[in-house]
Amino acid sequence: MRLILLGPPGAGKGTQAQRLVAKHGLVHLSTGDMLRAAVAAGTPIGRQVKDIMDRGELCPDDIVVSIIADRIAQPDARNGFVLDGFPRTVAQAEALTRMLREKGLDLDGVVELKVDEGQLVRRIESRIKETLARGEPLRKDDDPEVLKTRLDAYRRQTAPLIHHYREKNLIRAVDGMAPMDEVTAAINWIFAKPKPQKTSTKSATSQKTKQKSTKQAAAPKKPQAAARKPAKAAGRSSKARGSKVAAARKPAPKKAASKGAKKSAKRR
Ligand code: AMP
Repeated sequence: MRLILLGPPGAGKGTQAQRLVAKHGLVHLSTGDMLRAAVAAGTPIGRQVKDIMDRGELCPDDIVVSIIADRIAQPDARNGFVLDGFPRTVAQAEALTRMLREKGLDLDGVVELKVDEGQLVRRIESRIKETLARGEPLRKDDDPEVLKTRLDAYRRQTAPLIHHYREKNLIRAVDGMAPMDEVTAAINWIFAKPKPQKTSTKSATSQKTKQKSTKQAAAPKKPQAAARKPAKAAGRSSKARGSKVAAARKPAPKKAASKGAKKSAKRR
């Protein structure tokens, strides 16, 4: 399985990526972690990106693309990976598509963690307090001013990816403000494997009807922090729900997302 977690800084991509790694045995590929390691090791790339990262701006596309290309080529990434913090620009997304295509691979889906920016700022502020209380050093970019720059970079450079992947019918939105376990459940639900279908010799129409009812019964229980999935999607054919689960499911209309977000806001 090859997935992308998309969302602004502080949306919980890292936590959800680790959970996906634990559940599906994927490799967690975080460009932020890789770049921080390069900075800490004082490599030429690290020296090149240090100030950019400290300011909260995006590093050059060619640097991050080459880091990811090298990493994806490693044997441990063969079984699948979850990309956290990459791609962050349309140019990076296009480079990713090209590098996967060269290997005869595809993306299985993109999860957009939808968040409320005001709450996000408060979340990061409390993360800063907790880190300080533990006596641990702060990340340079854990600073309200830097956070503003990072959010701005997300809005201007990364958010266009939502449209990019929506056009490819690959994106699914999840309410990132819901409690962490609910977010995990929603993501797992999106990528849950469908149960095998019984074959039938009946006509295509009656078989379709039968598949619909069987699938609805077999579909994993919808989590509260609903991934935006219309009930209709549960009735898709087994072919359509094959390896590219997310690709087979149309994103729900915008309205549904705000409804889900409102629902969890109410819960809080
Ligand atoms: P993160 O830990 O993912 O929030 O990333 C921390 C910082 O690393 C970002 O603010 C950027 O400066 C840089 N960075 C990480 N991933 C990318 C990327 N895909 N493209 C450009 N810059 C990145």
